[in-house]
Amino acid sequence: METKPGTGYPTKWEDQKIYKGGWVLNGDKLELRVAGKATGLTKLYHNPDMPVMDDYYEPWVYDYDHLFEAPAGTDQPTAIAISLVTGEAMDIKGGPNWDDDLSGTPDYARHDVNLKNLSAEEQESMFQLERMTMHYLPRMCNHCLNPSCVAACPSGAVYKRGEDGVVLINQEKCRAWRLCVTACPYKKSYYNWTSGKSEKCLLCYPRLETGQAPACMHSCVGRIRYLGVMLYDADKIKEFASVPDDQLIDRQMDIYLNPFDEKVIREAKKNGIADSTIEAAQKSPVYKFVKEWKIALPLHAEFRTMPSLFYVPPMLPVMGKMTNNVYESTTENLWGKIEDSRLPMQYLANLFSTGNQDKIRNVLKRLMTVRYHRRKVTVNDIDDSLMKAAFETTGLNPDTADAIYRLTSLAKYDERFVIPPAHREEAIEMIESTDDRKGNAGFGGKKDTNRVF
Ligand code: SF4
Repeated sequence: METKPGTGYPTKWEDQKIYKGGWVLNGDKLELRVAGKATGLTKLYHNPDMPVMDDYYEPWVYDYDHLFEAPAGTDQPTAIAISLVTGEAMDIKGGPNWDDDLSGTPDYARHDVNLKNLSAEEQESMFQLERMTMHYLPRMCNHCLNPSCVAACPSGAVYKRGEDGVVLINQEKCRAWRLCVTACPYKKSYYNWTSGKSEKCLLCYPRLETGQAPACMHSCVGRIRYLGVMLYDADKIKEFASVPDDQLIDRQMDIYLNPFDEKVIREAKKNGIADSTIEAAQKSPVYKFVKEWKIALPLHAEFRTMPSLFYVPPMLPVMGKMTNNVYESTTENLWGKIEDSRLPMQYLANLFSTGNQDKIRNVLKRLMTVRYHRRKVTVNDIDDSLMKAAFETTGLNPDTADAIYRLTSLAKYDERFVIPPAHREEAIEMIESTDDRKGNAGFGGKKDTNRVF
């Protein structure tokens, strides 16, 4: 979790000019921004694109013993910071959550790369605390469809599991080259200096295999995390990850298949997808958010890894204002609050829609329509003509608005997390019996995808 605006962890992780993560289009060729498996070998012993300790922070402990054991004296004993790397006393320059909640704004938040293309006035507005533009961005591995960490690993230690798409690092095969750290544009692969291996989020796969939600999702007190199956056409990954920036999100949406479509069901079964997985895809909350309702977008699609996590852009500042106890909206100015949002549209666009403001606007209009509708149902101070105009513009209707309201605020555990049985054995059998399913993405994978670590 990190505060936005802010530079995050490692600092300025989104700036690929510094870190060289993700993929880049070279003509019509999709290439790793950092060198791939072959040319990457030249960077094995000196990799200038690797984040260094100062980009994260130097870990430390406090010398608490001194508080108890200091000899009697005239001054109060203090617990000084001791570096966990050198064992020496240190001046702390950064640490976990160091720049959270706009602390250290001049040094950190003002260097947020998502402030690009914002006017000076908009940028300034983001640092006025009373405007409450600060918000939180949960960040974890995206278990991407086109994972650059997998493609960059010279040892073939990083892989995407066939049966559920979880991206893992085989700890036996990892040779600590750390190209996954460089290649991941989200910086979600970390090197463990104690074990000498790279590690990453494993989406709590042992929990998934027993039908439980990953721990971070299960324990989310805001109940804002959802998990579900999405069927996709793996053969389209390369083509769709190679389109110009402004088409990336639409193409990614196209890759997800309709689990109710007879043809899709037939093909899925032919490819060994179990009935229970197809049923789970039909009940998937993620499918609803992303495809049906179109209210969730991927983070930084321009990195071209096709992240499998989606975010509903924040909404509260848009609707947080009332006049005379009534939301200030008229049919003439139906979406006025969106345009006057305290959170600049361009900022959200830089995060979630490759800079395209209209995509964010469309999502916010849908979310706002749900709020109009629920306000009408519960308080009934919304004009009929306004409600009609909102539904017409967004293509929603009362039933869909209620469904969105239900899933986002009232849904129980089983609706938020729809996890099918693992079907691990079938997946392994299928991968082992199919020679042409090689590569890094989709249902493909190397023969050792059955090895779990
Ligand atoms: Fe790999 Fe996860 Fe980074 Fe995607 S977000 S490139 S799957 S480590």
